[in-house]
Amino acid sequence: MAEYRPAAPDQEAFLEELVAARLLVRTGVPGVYGRGGAFEDVRLRFDDLVARLAAPDGPEVLRFPPLLPRRQLESSGYLKSFPHLAGSIFAFEGDEAQALAQEERAARHEDWSEYQSQSDLVLTPAACYPVYPAVGARGPLPAGGVTVDAGGAYVFRHEPSGDPARLQMFHQRELVRIGEPETVEAWRDAWRDRALDLLRGLGLDADFDVATDPFFGRSGRMLAASQRQQALKFEIQVQIAGPEPTAVASFNYHQDHFAAAHGITLADGGVAHTACLGFGEERIVLALLRTHGLDPAGWPEDVRSRLWTSA
Ligand code: ZN
Repeated sequence: MAEYRPAAPDQEAFLEELVAARLLVRTGVPGVYGRGGAFEDVRLRFDDLVARLAAPDGPEVLRFPPLLPRRQLESSGYLKSFPHLAGSIFAFEGDEAQALAQEERAARHEDWSEYQSQSDLVLTPAACYPVYPAVGARGPLPAGGVTVDAGGAYVFRHEPSGDPARLQMFHQRELVRIGEPETVEAWRDAWRDRALDLLRGLGLDADFDVATDPFFGRSGRMLAASQRQQALKFEIQVQIAGPEPTAVASFNYHQDHFAAAHGITLADGGVAHTACLGFGEERIVLALLRTHGLDPAGWPEDVRSRLWTSA
């Protein structure tokens, strides 16, 4: 069972305020909340702001449901690196007697998993995951590669926590660049600066740093060390609630990992490289609420004009 991380006192107090203001709605499961209209409005405005900022790159827009074919996850290496965060979908395929037994057990809130079989689907762990197989299936990349706007997609991470900024399901606003190594690296570096300007322009005290993924187990520590040494991952952090700042955006250079797994090749036949940028939308809304107050109508005018302008 995934280890529950209790909230720091400041995080618990912030969650109470958010619930009282009807910005978040408790479901009874830590890290899974409903959202009120004001929260969702800010999230969608931020989503739109990223789309406007990305528009000059001329990205191809792709949207996927928050589910992946199980085979795609199996080919991605995710279960080796992050088995503790993955969510897979099981469903009932039994007979009437088993259906009855399952229902009786479920009604008593006991374990009914023995009546469930693994389906062909898993929950999407990162918004860029469906993009790579889709691009790989098209054959070699056009000259210059492709840029994809993967939208603000729901993703799942099995890490129950009392911190309102650590959700089990949340929207990741992703942009993806696929092409030659130098192109991809330059894109990532340019977006690191753009994203920092974007968040600072919203009044957030944002900083970036080299980061590592929460790889699983002992071999994971080696992967993290190598990731840090090669500076493959950067994060932008903002102080929300709690003792430590929270990562609100990450920049990931995968080198040829996803291209090799999904057969993405350059126009000349060489293996492509990929990078992605993901904004944690709920975390950015929480950072804005924490910084500027729980009523967006009272936020500073320059912050409001950036979010509530359609130009
Ligand atoms: Zn990604």
